[in-house]
Amino acid sequence: MEVVIIGAGVVGITTAWALNQRGYQVTVIEKQSQAALETSRANAGQRSYGHVSPWASPKLIRKTLPSLVKRQGPLKIQPLPTPITIHFLLSMWRAAYTPGLFQRNHEAMLQLAQFSRSQFLALEKTVKLDFDGHHGGMLKLASTESEKRELLDIAQTLQKLDIPCRWFDAAAARDQEPGLREDTPLVGGLHVPGDGSGDCHLFTQALARECEAAGVRFRYDTTVTHFKTSEDHLERIQVSGESGPEWIDGDLFVVCAGCASRELGLSLGVKWPIYPVKGYSLTARIENPDHAPISTLVDDRYSIAITRLGNRLRATGFAELTEFNRKIPDRRLAAIREGLESRFQGAVDWSKAESWTGFRPMTPDGPALLGKTFQDNVYVNSGHGTWGWTLSAGSAEVIARQIAGDPIPLNLQAFDPLRFSRK
Ligand SMILES: Cc1cc2nc3c(=O)[nH]c(=O)nc-3n(C[C@H](O)[C@H](O)[C@H](O)COP(=O)(O)OP(=O)(O)OC[C@H]3O[C@@H](n4cnc5c(N)ncnc54)[C@H](O)[C@@H]3O)c2cc1C
Repeated sequence: MEVVIIGAGVVGITTAWALNQRGYQVTVIEKQSQAALETSRANAGQRSYGHVSPWASPKLIRKTLPSLVKRQGPLKIQPLPTPITIHFLLSMWRAAYTPGLFQRNHEAMLQLAQFSRSQFLALEKTVKLDFDGHHGGMLKLASTESEKRELLDIAQTLQKLDIPCRWFDAAAARDQEPGLREDTPLVGGLHVPGDGSGDCHLFTQALARECEAAGVRFRYDTTVTHFKTSEDHLERIQVSGESGPEWIDGDLFVVCAGCASRELGLSLGVKWPIYPVKGYSLTARIENPDHAPISTLVDDRYSIAITRLGNRLRATGFAELTEFNRKIPDRRLAAIREGLESRFQGAVDWSKAESWTGFRPMTPDGPALLGKTFQDNVYVNSGHGTWGWTLSAGSAEVIARQIAGDPIPLNLQAFDPLRFSRK
């Protein structure tokens, strides 16, 4: 059976691998010249299986709204939001204040993440991939008592799901991460020992090479432009590449196009209201290892993620609702640098840092879109928001099992890809 995958980000490539390993013939179509050049390019590098959570949460909304007016505040909205931005915000708001929804979605995402962890461990045993990958735990820092209370609430949910975690006071947090500055406010941190890190771009490119060696075909520089459907079946897709427009046949199709899945969904008659939530990263070689993190952290003061990737350090931050605006303002990078220096002073030489911006493919309620669409031969694996690297191995396995008809040890209701079309 021939499966065509649209998109070669981390989600498309892990899906290609999972299907190839089950004996399917797979073709991946990607509009860029290589795998992982869009959102999977330079994200925070956290495989945060114990930290995945919907952003549609009343607590998060209360916490981030005041940050709109602070320079380092993580949330930014363009002065005149477009109708798509307003619609996304209202939908997120509605999801956040739907009784019980946050907790249900949070637990569903944590369960998918734990499944993803087991798939990553299995994958890393099967193939040797060089991506500065590590499972050294993650520490979420609290610099205030109220942040500590929030983290202890999260710890309760983790404990309910049997996900190991531990509260560290400030001294224990500094024992865990000895490079942390002594003179910055710190009450403690929630440590999730099963979490990990790794360079998503290196991983995706390495796995794409393994896929190719195992027989997966790749069509780079090729954009999917149209679908030819009849009744509830997708007959073929039109692509445009170097040799002009062309129709491609397949038995099954999987949409893994990240933020672009929204438009592709509309052509298929389904609503996937994925919004591109912009963020930034800075990556630099570690010059002073004693002042650098050992693993990966989230800092509550500046809302930045800080990750060690081999001999490099990456810091990321901001959630901007500006649609696809690829500008990288200096003030955003300066705020990320400031946040990092406030925790790990002098670890890197910023003059040599690489900057990047990317767009989290975010659904308004949080969970990704996983499963079959209105057409009987079209699946979607998109909309993982800020957790696509973490969830990739698990959601790829879910799609492969759905296609093969194999059992899946998860309740997938929260990930229903038709949930926005039924309303
Ligand atoms: C600042 C930032 C920090 C982040 N940090 C983390 C983190 O620490 N941990 C984590 O788990 N996640 C993180 N994320 C989120 C994560 O990076 C994404 O969820 C993930 O990369 C999404 O992968 P994807 O394959 O769905 O999308 P993408 O990587 O965007 O891949 C989609 C691909 O589809 C292709 N495509 C689109 N349309 C078409 C078309 N019509 N025809 C052909 N090809 C097409 C695109 O070119 C692209 O290559 C972060 C994101 C950002 C922005």
